[in-house]
Parts: sequence; C-alpha cells; structure tokens
Amino acid sequence: NNARSNNNAALFVSRVGRVPAGITSRRLRIVVTGGAGFVGSHLVDRLIERGNDVIVVDNFFTGRKENLKHLFGNPRFEMIRHDVVEPILLEVDQIYHLACPASPVHYKYNPVKTIISFFLLFLYLHCTALHFYLYIYTNVMGTLNMLGLAKRIGARFLLTSTSEVYGDPLEHPQKETYWGNVNPIGERSCYDEGKRTAETLTMDYHRGAGVEVRIARIFNTYGPRMCLDDGRVVSNFVAQAIRKQPLTVYGDGKQTRSFQYVSDLVNGLMALMDGEHIGPFNLGNPGEFTMLELAQVVKETIDSSATIAYKPNTADDPHMRKPDISKAKELLNWEPKISLREGLPLMVSDFRNRILNEDEGKGM
Ligand code: NAD
Ligand code: UDP
Ligand code: UDP
Repeated sequence: NNARSNNNAALFVSRVGRVPAGITSRRLRIVVTGGAGFVGSHLVDRLIERGNDVIVVDNFFTGRKENLKHLFGNPRFEMIRHDVVEPILLEVDQIYHLACPASPVHYKYNPVKTIISFFLLFLYLHCTALHFYLYIYTNVMGTLNMLGLAKRIGARFLLTSTSEVYGDPLEHPQKETYWGNVNPIGERSCYDEGKRTAETLTMDYHRGAGVEVRIARIFNTYGPRMCLDDGRVVSNFVAQAIRKQPLTVYGDGKQTRSFQYVSDLVNGLMALMDGEHIGPFNLGNPGEFTMLELAQVVKETIDSSATIAYKPNTADDPHMRKPDISKAKELLNWEPKISLREGLPLMVSDFRNRILNEDEGKGM
C-alpha cells in the first residue's frame, strides 16, 4: 500500500511538480479504453478491487456490457460508449489503452478500421465515400487521441501492443530488441502494422511531448470472457469441444504459440503501469505448444473423444512464437504463474454457460 501511495504521489508530482496535501490518500482515477472486452474487463475488475476509480471507454465493437455488469451501480465505476477515433475530454491519472479491433475474424473483415497512416486517411478522404473513413483507423487515430489526452492532463499512458509486431519471427524466442519480420501488404498487416504505428506514436509522444508512456507486447492470452466466435485458436477449440464439433486445426498444426492466462497478463500490465520502466516489455507465458499439442490439452480438459478437422491455414501465419520474458522478470519482477493445463479448465464453465445461453436464445 505504501508503495502504491508513493507511486500515486510520484505520478502527481510528475504532473504538477509538487505533492499537494492529501494526494497520497487520494484514489487514483484510471481510464481503460476497450474495458468492455476480454482483457479490459479483467483489468477493470482488478483496478476496482484495488480501490481505484475506473472509467471504461468502449464502443462495444467486440466488447460486451455483460463483461462488466457486476460493476453497474458501483460508485467507483463508470462506463462511456465512445469510439476512440473521436477526441474525448477526461480528467484521469492513468490511461490503459486497449481499444482495438483485436481478433483475427474482425481484423480480416474490417481491415480498414484497424490501420491508418495519415497518407491512407488522406487517400480515403479523397478517394472513397466519406462515411467509409470511420472504418479505417482505430489503431492509429485512437492511440493518437489517447496520447493527446495524456499530454493535456499529464496522465501516464500504457499501450497494449502485441507479439504480432514481430511478424513471422526469424529470432526465437523473441526478445524486445528484435525488430520483427512483418509483411506490410499481407492480410494480417492491418493489425501488425497498426500496432507498430501505435508503438511509434507512443514513443514520439514520449520523446517529443514528455508524455509518460508504457508499452506492453502481449502474447496470445486466453481465459473467461473471451469472445466465443472471434476465431482465435483457444476460444475456437474450447467452444468446438463443448459443442461436440471437431477441433479445426489450420495447416499441419505444427506452428507454435505460447498461451498466457488472463490473470497473469493483468498482473503484468499493472506492474508495468505502476513501475518505472517504459518498455516495450513482452508479457506472455514462455510455455510453447504446437496447435496439435493445444488440441490434445483441450481434449484432455473437455472431451477426450473430440476429433480434429484439418483446414487450410491463413496467409502469413507465423510459424512459431514464444516470448523471452527476461526483461519483465528483471525489471518488473513479473512472471506468469498459471500453466496452460491449469488455466484451460478455468475458462470452461464460463464458455459452457455462454454456449448454453446462446442455444437457449435460439430456442434449442
Ligand atoms: P477484445 O476485442 O475483447 O477487446 C477490445 C475492446 O476494444 C472491445 O471491448 C471493443 O469493443 C473495444 N474497441 C474496439 N474498437 C474500439 C474503438 N474504436 N473505440 C472504443 N472501443 C473500441 O480484445 P482483447 O483480447 O481484450 O484485447 C485487448 C487489447 O490487447 C487489444 O489492444 C489487443 O490488440 C491487445 N492484445 C490482445 C491479445 C490477446 O491474446 N487477447 C494479444 C495481443 C494483444
Ligand atoms: N485529444 C483528445 N483529448 C484531449 C486532448 C487531445 O482527444 O484531452 C486529441 C486531439 O483532438 C487530437 C489528438 O488528441 O486529435 C492529439 O492531440 P495533440 O494535442 O497532441 O495534437 P493537436 O491537437 O495539437 O494536433
Ligand atoms: N488456428 C487453428 N485453428 C483455429 C484457429 C486458429 O489451428 O481454429 C491457428 C492459427 O492458424 C495460428 C494459431 O492457431 O497458427 C494461433 O491463431 P490465433 O488466431 O489464435 O492467434 P495469432 O495467429 O494471432 O497468434
């Protein structure tokens, strides 16, 4: 608690240059963009539990009010329906910026919303119907607006970037010093390059405007409240096993990923925000699995009779991914605690309930 109060005070000093009476006991006010989503809602829970005032800003593109409904009526919690591509005026101490169309299904079908460069904006404004430009630029305009907000009010800003900035990596495991191997014109590039640009903007606002920033590079994360049908592999396999459908393995299933349970990620994000280091920091679980191994763990956890259906893989799919987390271990004193075999069962009842409710909703 002392450390937290000191940290609050330090944040305030960086804003106003002195510690006003009572600041160490004042509650931190925090905005979480994308707070109605999977990761955001777990983060909001932890911040509220810790005694902070939390404002969620979300346009419910992929997020759901249900993820936060247990907080409705809590005097420390507020929710604003707002698209971060539009400017917003708020007074807060910290900004966790998570808002982003994050899942593969959504970014493949709404690529234009995921990325904009000013060049693209210029082109779109001139070459397409005006309404279309609203779908272009969450990742860049949203980040720009939140950085502008952070600059105006002297708040600390945390960007949730992604392991996708490493693309199809040629270095394994990936360290933060690796610059990545991204196809700038591929199907996934709207997400990868959108986040890379968001990182650039974040560092530019830090260097150019003195904004206090933090960058997290998040590796594949799973847990309760994941979107049921957003196309990510863990949610797909778990939902398929519960629905008694074959597990869809793309390609030969030998590609690897490292899966992190959501509470470990939330611990990492909070340690990063409240610590003294800018990053970027890899936040992920170094346990590495092929998709076939993941399918096996899902079978053991949910239904040993589940079968596998092989499907063609998507273009530019990274062949392997595994975080090197030595930097976060050393500087944030953080490391994940929950293995895949421990974490998967923790999301099953949430998925079962939601699938059951969906089926009932369809009159099944
Ligand atoms: P999610 O889709 O569940 O949450 C994203 C939230 O942002 C949703 O609530 C959505 O409605 C909101 N949003 C989207 N566009 C918005 C806009 N223009 N204005 C306001 N709100 C908007 O995804 P998530 O898994 O919780 O991801 C959270 C963040 O973490 C994202 O930035 C994502 O890129 C990053 N990330 C997640 C993972 C992962 O495995 N979950 C991995 C790497 C990075
Ligand atoms: N912005 C915002 N809220 C604020 C301050 C700024 O949404 O409280 C937006 C602002 O509208 C602009 C972006 O953040 O689109 C960048 O702001 P900045 O002041 O850095 O740039 P400028 O407005 O001078 O171009
Ligand atoms: N994948 C799969 N079956 C699915 C969904 C995805 O085999 O039903 C594969 C996908 O091709 C990729 C890996 O799982 O190799 C992780 O995909 P996801 O979209 O979850 O995350 P990302 O590719 O962004 O790491």
